[in-house]
Amino acid sequence: MAVRPVLTLGNPLLRRVARDLDPAELDTPAIRRLAEDMVDTMHHEDGIGIAAPQVGESLQLAVIEIASSSPRYPGHESFALHYFVNPRITVLDPVEQGFWEGCLSVPNLRGYVERPRRIRVDYLDLDAHPRTVEAEGFLATVLQHELDHLQGKLFVDRVRDTTRLATLEDYVRFWLPKPG
Ligand code: ZN
Repeated sequence: MAVRPVLTLGNPLLRRVARDLDPAELDTPAIRRLAEDMVDTMHHEDGIGIAAPQVGESLQLAVIEIASSSPRYPGHESFALHYFVNPRITVLDPVEQGFWEGCLSVPNLRGYVERPRRIRVDYLDLDAHPRTVEAEGFLATVLQHELDHLQGKLFVDRVRDTTRLATLEDYVRFWLPKPG
């Protein structure tokens, strides 16, 4: 168990297309440790997802887990811990929906990003079994955000209206819907 440092915006490794993992690699101690460390790091940072490039490994591996009590993204449906190896996205409904996104690699910023509202992801789990998940709503956005990392993309690349890019403090002050 180890928390790894998270690479931040400006680090060229975040901009590389990560390489596919060979299914035979998944059973190695190095990949098992990486997967564990990604979960530990995500929990430590209160994140809901993390991709291997964010901890310095340019590999097609991402982890997502949305707790119903997530402090960074409260009020969203929960999603159990999933490992995504070599994921491929298919858009099922190209109509876009927007959410305010943040990223452990882009500290202290939130941005409004519009993405297709329904997708399918084909991937391998950590035991190299082929899996499919269909997602809509916030989960569809989270999946696209995390899998973007594996293509060297960050959410700030997808913010079309840069007036809706805000520090966390100003996001809360000016943009976060007020209860009631
Ligand atoms: Zn991110």
